[in-house]
Amino acid sequence: MLARRTFLGLMAGALAPRLGLADTPAIVATTGMIADAARAMTGLPVTALIGPGMDPHGHRPTRNDILTLSRADLVLWHGLNLEAQFAKLMTGLAQNATVLAVAEALPADLLLSDPAYPDRPDPHVWFDPGLWSQVTQAMEPTLAPFSPDVAAKAAAYRASIDTIGTYAKDVLATIPAESRLLVTAHDAFAYFGRAFGLEVEGVQGISTESEAGLSRIAELVNLLVDRRVPAVFVESSVSDRALRALIEGAAAKGHTVRIGGELFSDAMGPEGSYEGTWAGMMDHNATTIARALGGEAPERGAMGMLGSDG
Ligand SMILES: [Zn+2]
Repeated sequence: MLARRTFLGLMAGALAPRLGLADTPAIVATTGMIADAARAMTGLPVTALIGPGMDPHGHRPTRNDILTLSRADLVLWHGLNLEAQFAKLMTGLAQNATVLAVAEALPADLLLSDPAYPDRPDPHVWFDPGLWSQVTQAMEPTLAPFSPDVAAKAAAYRASIDTIGTYAKDVLATIPAESRLLVTAHDAFAYFGRAFGLEVEGVQGISTESEAGLSRIAELVNLLVDRRVPAVFVESSVSDRALRALIEGAAAKGHTVRIGGELFSDAMGPEGSYEGTWAGMMDHNATTIARALGGEAPERGAMGMLGSDG
């Protein structure tokens, strides 16, 4: 019976997709980063499907995801092969809702490629404040019909991106030259490294679907020992098993490496917290990395808000 009611509900939605606009439009985003931008630019509630601690590379749409998407007036997804399991679904949704792959409007020459598959882009563009700002520009015309004052709100959001971007640049510049190596669980930080002048190595590849090989572990252990790099970083959405192998490998060679902290890579902090916003996520990551690699940054970050409830 439930299935039948659901089906009828879907049909009603399909026949009158714009009826809901008199009320609050249903806006659904795949990632928390996109939801944060859409909330800030519209002032409206936005549902994020791939929440804290979840991995967008491997996430298969659940029945609930599909139901939420089918009821949406506006669907915002990342594209660039990030939520690979959603691609087919998005094509179908475009018949009844406005659907935008927010990152696919970025000029190709600004994109990095996946080292394992050179013909595929690296999707982690939210870690370059300049690129994320461009993504919000691409979103603006699509959001405008859903809320008044999108242009003003978008300008304010971009100003907050600039503020955190400048802070990150300043604190990351204080890391000593030999320690400017960021080792993380998977290759999420190439854009971050390019934006802030850090070398970046992920134990796993761009997608979290692959297992790190023993030779890759040995290679990274040597790099950490040779450069006397003091810390590696876990990610909230990826297993830290391989990082523990690095720490043990370096210890066997007489060099102490510690876990420098947990970074938000493909998912942000809890909804409603400062770390659950793009600005809070960047602030947390830049502050954590700077402090663990021997640089200087205030413990509570750019705004004194890290570790608070929002
Ligand atoms: Zn990733």
